[in-house]
Amino acid sequence: MDPRLAIDGGPPAKTTPNFPMYPGGGEIGADEKKEVLEALERGYIFRYYGPREFPSKVAALEAALCDRMGSTYALATNSCTSSLISALVACGVGPGDEVIVPAYTYWSSASAVLMARAVPILAEVDDSLTMDPRGIEGLINRRTRAIMPVHMRGAPCDMDPVMSAARRHGLAVIEDNAQACGGSYRGETLGTFGDCGCFSLQYYKIITSGEGGALVTDDEGLYLKAQSCHDSAACWRPDRFAPARFPGELFAGYDFRMCEVTGAMGLAQMRRLDGLLERMRSRKARILSGIRDVEGLRLRRLNDPDGDTGICVIFFVPERDVTRRFVEALRAEGVAASVLYDPEVGDWHVYAHWGHLMDRVTPTREGCPFTCPYRGAPPPEYSRDMCPRSLDWLGRAVHIDVPPGMTDDDCDMIADAVRKVAGAYL
Ligand SMILES: *Cc1c(COP(=O)(O)O)cnc(C)c1O
Repeated sequence: MDPRLAIDGGPPAKTTPNFPMYPGGGEIGADEKKEVLEALERGYIFRYYGPREFPSKVAALEAALCDRMGSTYALATNSCTSSLISALVACGVGPGDEVIVPAYTYWSSASAVLMARAVPILAEVDDSLTMDPRGIEGLINRRTRAIMPVHMRGAPCDMDPVMSAARRHGLAVIEDNAQACGGSYRGETLGTFGDCGCFSLQYYKIITSGEGGALVTDDEGLYLKAQSCHDSAACWRPDRFAPARFPGELFAGYDFRMCEVTGAMGLAQMRRLDGLLERMRSRKARILSGIRDVEGLRLRRLNDPDGDTGICVIFFVPERDVTRRFVEALRAEGVAASVLYDPEVGDWHVYAHWGHLMDRVTPTREGCPFTCPYRGAPPPEYSRDMCPRSLDWLGRAVHIDVPPGMTDDDCDMIADAVRKVAGAYL
């Protein structure tokens, strides 16, 4: 066999086409069409009031979420970002407050905090690429109100130390579980550890309804407040025009409601979730078994390997300047690999690219919420090098998607390609 790398003119290790990772693991099929058509044929696609002869698809999606996640309440919204905002508002986060957010997450985790008029404080991630719990205590002060752990790239954040830090300091916990729907940590479903857990049904997620989201909680008070936040018309109440049934029930909210078409699609996708997870996990296990002992590679550490959703394989190379070459060589071998951080290439998942946060840009002149007088302190300082350990891990990370449709051969060829490139470059 010709041992030359494909990038140097040798034969590629992977000769099969790459499966799409999205939508919803590559699968929108008959069940989605049936559910959506059913919603359309009713001729009434608003979630609330109106003709009541049909059970709401959105309510059915919420019931499916409660059932699968093991939570008492679920509230469907139009995005994970709007769920995060609703959760923050429900938890009483607002002007003057700080919320701890990891340096590696999709930007909207931080954006949601700002839209709730609080400020995000960035926490380093460790070699699991989720919030390093050892760094949390040092970020807590009298303004800290909540922690937002993010189960990034399909894998659980280290929830035990996060929860104990939160309890010690009386902080709310809002889990951003947009990327690890169906994952778990020590036997418990992600999204159910904190006060609220938020999910995304946006296109680039494990399951999708194009756009959409949900929050889950066991706390009735938080659920009611999140409902108020997500629907300024109070449609969710038995009588939307009745006065508040208890103090604080009604306040100025947004319109984050989900419509019946989206609910129908989400419902069909929920039924696929466990099948997708099973396939991705078995595909990932097969790839890992082929690369586990490759010298020079260090696999991403998992806080609970059993709770990983299996959406991707991530490993670290020893030196930052090898990462890009390694990824380019893998791509030439036919593997859809990518880097996680390149200072030259924009990416909304790494804080150093959040220029408008670094510069504290706001839509209004007075600079709210950074300059909020309730802070009782100068605005928080941000800089591109403030989380160097996160940038070091991310800068040495090689990422490979694990679409559930991959065959055994695909997995073996990916492992061959990684071994081949590692043999040449490390
Ligand atoms: C996608 C994503 C979001 C936002 O989800 P939307 O439904 O698009 O609002 C939030 N956090 C993380 C970690 C994400 O990946």
